[in-house]
Amino acid sequence: MPHELPKAYEPGAIETRWAEYWVKEKLFHVETPAPGETRPVFTLLLPPPNVTGRLHMGHMLNQTQMDILVRWHRMCGFITLWLPGTDHAGIATQMMVERQLAKEGKRRREMGREKFVERVWEWKREYGGAILDQMKRLGASVDWGREYFTMDENLSRAVREVFVRLYEQGLIYRGKYIVNWCPRCETAISDLEVKHEDVAGKLWEIRYRVAGTNDFITVATTRPETMLGDTAVAVNAADERYTHLHGKHVLLPLMKREIPIILDEIAKPEFGTGAVKITPAHDPNDFEAGKRHNLPQIDVMDLHARMNENAGTYKGLDRYEAREAVLTDLKEQGFLVAEKDYTVPLGKCDRCGTVVEPRLSEQWFVKIGPLAKKAIAVVESGEITITPENYKQIYLNWMYNIHDWCVSRQLWWGHRIPAWTCGSCGEVTVAREAPDRCPKCNSPKPEQVTDVLDTWFSSGLLPFTTLGWPEKTRDQAAFYPTTLLITAYEILFFWVARMIMFGCHFMEGHEQDAAIKKASGCAEKKNDSVPFRNVYIHALVRDAERQKMSKTKGNVLDPLEVIDRFGTDATRFTLAAMAAPGTDIAFNESRTDGYRAFANKIWNAARFMFMNVDRIAPDLRPVLDGRGARPSTSCGVAGFLAQTLEDRWILSRFNRATRDTNDAIATYRFHEAANRIYDFFWGEFCDWYIELIKPRLMESADTARAGCANLVNLFDGALRLLHPVMPFITEEIWHAVYAGAPPLKSIALAPYPAADDAQIDLAAETQMAVLQDLIVSLRNLRAELKVEPKVKVPIQVFAHEPEIRRVIEENRGAVERLGNVEGVVFVEASLAKIAGARSTARFDVHVVYERKIDVAAEIERLKKDLEKTEKQLATAQTRLGDQQFLKKAPPHVVEGLRQQVEELKIVKEKILAKLKELGEAGTT
Ligand SMILES: [Zn+2]
Ligand SMILES: [Zn+2]
Repeated sequence: MPHELPKAYEPGAIETRWAEYWVKEKLFHVETPAPGETRPVFTLLLPPPNVTGRLHMGHMLNQTQMDILVRWHRMCGFITLWLPGTDHAGIATQMMVERQLAKEGKRRREMGREKFVERVWEWKREYGGAILDQMKRLGASVDWGREYFTMDENLSRAVREVFVRLYEQGLIYRGKYIVNWCPRCETAISDLEVKHEDVAGKLWEIRYRVAGTNDFITVATTRPETMLGDTAVAVNAADERYTHLHGKHVLLPLMKREIPIILDEIAKPEFGTGAVKITPAHDPNDFEAGKRHNLPQIDVMDLHARMNENAGTYKGLDRYEAREAVLTDLKEQGFLVAEKDYTVPLGKCDRCGTVVEPRLSEQWFVKIGPLAKKAIAVVESGEITITPENYKQIYLNWMYNIHDWCVSRQLWWGHRIPAWTCGSCGEVTVAREAPDRCPKCNSPKPEQVTDVLDTWFSSGLLPFTTLGWPEKTRDQAAFYPTTLLITAYEILFFWVARMIMFGCHFMEGHEQDAAIKKASGCAEKKNDSVPFRNVYIHALVRDAERQKMSKTKGNVLDPLEVIDRFGTDATRFTLAAMAAPGTDIAFNESRTDGYRAFANKIWNAARFMFMNVDRIAPDLRPVLDGRGARPSTSCGVAGFLAQTLEDRWILSRFNRATRDTNDAIATYRFHEAANRIYDFFWGEFCDWYIELIKPRLMESADTARAGCANLVNLFDGALRLLHPVMPFITEEIWHAVYAGAPPLKSIALAPYPAADDAQIDLAAETQMAVLQDLIVSLRNLRAELKVEPKVKVPIQVFAHEPEIRRVIEENRGAVERLGNVEGVVFVEASLAKIAGARSTARFDVHVVYERKIDVAAEIERLKKDLEKTEKQLATAQTRLGDQQFLKKAPPHVVEGLRQQVEELKIVKEKILAKLKELGEAGTT
């Protein structure tokens, strides 16, 4: 049974194959934990992408981070549930299907509601799974057996239940309200769905005649067409300019209507003329002022933002046509005082870009105060943590100032509001099922309200509705609260805040299974009603120039294209390695190319290893221990026997890398985890250990076999360490390590390496550092002397201490082989004065090679070295002079720094001596 791996590393083929395998084998499916379960649980809800969506870099980053955490927890022995699904995305989906219909020359309204909704379902069945298929390509290890859609029957029933309960609790009400209205989408949209933009526009000053006088009051507006709906002019009571007009009326131009002059704080004396027009039906602030003064609300536009019958002769005109007509008439009649350039703040519909019109309409609201109170408390108390921490305050500030939430949308696609209107008496009944008769007048068949609910209403319920709510299920006991939510800042309020409000309200009194809670490390958390215990807000992915990606700029990177070119593993690695918390990611493909080279390096190392194993011990398999155990004291490389210096060293380095990686993943420092694994796998394992062990593979059968055993066992550990970040290549090689018959179905089910501090061997690390230093010095010296690669050269070494000499002597073979040296001669005196020699704090080394030294170049090089050394010395000395630092730093750090200063002083002396020897003037 040879260990097979194709010659070339081709990520495309490998990745597609394993992605299919993981799904087919249902590897990530999680059964409901039985009562008495004592393993810890890790639960994560995938922020459901829109069913219309296509994967973008934000998803890719988000899912990479989630998958790293999920795979890591799973390998650490947690019962790990990652719940996937899609959102029905009301307005986005409706518009998508409308566009499709337009191509066929059909219109939604002509089709009728029922047919249209059926058509959307058809669309969903055909195309709705696209984004989930793309997720499979990323290797996202979700439980596909639990996939949901926000309009599934059970979730829809839960939505109705929530609505009815809130209504019964007095937390849902119906009211006239000024809403943001999109005349294109014909629906109310929430504040969060309005994009604000400042544009160059005009401010018009209009004067209104004070009734019965020749006096005028001047007001200013950027939307003159709304004056047709004015029902008052406000001045400030403290504004002495208008004291004589208190209690009077003005005559509204064009409409010839008398409207009162009111006293209200909305008028600011320091702003403009100090007088403002009040249009309660078309401006949110005026709406509030109107309510304070019981003013009539005159709506002058229809739902398409065309003027209606209340606009008199302007009826039928579009709002912008009306604006022109009104201005012309005001001018002709002498009411237009001035026209000034002005920066106008415009609100646009997030979906279609149409300018939003504030509009009075009948809507459904959630009374948010009582819900917000609990959602504030759980974050203030730390029952929910938010990382990075600055988002906690942003969240709280928003919650302190939250307004009632308008949840009705005038769409056809979505959860229809469970309310019915009586055709006879107008009574509105909110109920779980359609009532047969009006409960008030007993008329038959009340009509269901046509509005649907805001999409965020149903997605705000997902943490518990996906676990079977309103029934009390075993899933809920085990998996609620979820452990973590990873999401983007832009949906902190849309989604995160609402999940917290709904969770705390509807799951109040819920208790997580005590044993599972304790095992999961949450025993000290008192409140189990929260939808998740931790929130992690991830960064934005920008382009290589740090510009935000946007369609208009044309700098949007399609993650699937990047994957096609470099592989999923390399793309995931890039996103992980660049994801330092709190900073956006400037995605640079050259980095991805570099990480593809990393994968290639691992591939080639595996092939080298397999070649030797098949030659020496084809039956050799790694020893996989600690299966299914939580992080234990096992070093994660059972079967590794440390016999030589390089063995002790690599085992020590592996345990360090393991400790650092585990710490980094646990605290969402994905970049540190990725970089640490990279440095270990490439920089230490491939570059040094494999090189150092090669001669042993050529020795007697037993020695060679032992060497092979160390290689495969360590390789197995390193693959498991890397697996959460690069799941595909690690799965492929891991199966090959076991010659196609691994002890588990997947490396994803194997235990994650846990660090064993007892394996950290400082002596071995110090000794290896001497050898590495010496070999790197030799390579540099050879390069400077331009020694032909095939020529081996003798060297002279002066060791500063007997211990250093012993290490070099004992590893003479490695030095000769890796430094391309023939003959090491130890001398008893410093070599520092010899031109071309290299001096460190531990040794001096000189390559004996006949070549005329270029004195000028040598002086140049030494000066550079001197400068660098002096800089390092200064930095270290500054730190040692810093009292703050000395107070805080651990003693071994301070001691290390002192030692570094001593060593740097020695190096500096040596450089100076050499410069003097070369006759460089001015050096002392
Ligand atoms: Zn719109
Ligand atoms: Zn009735």
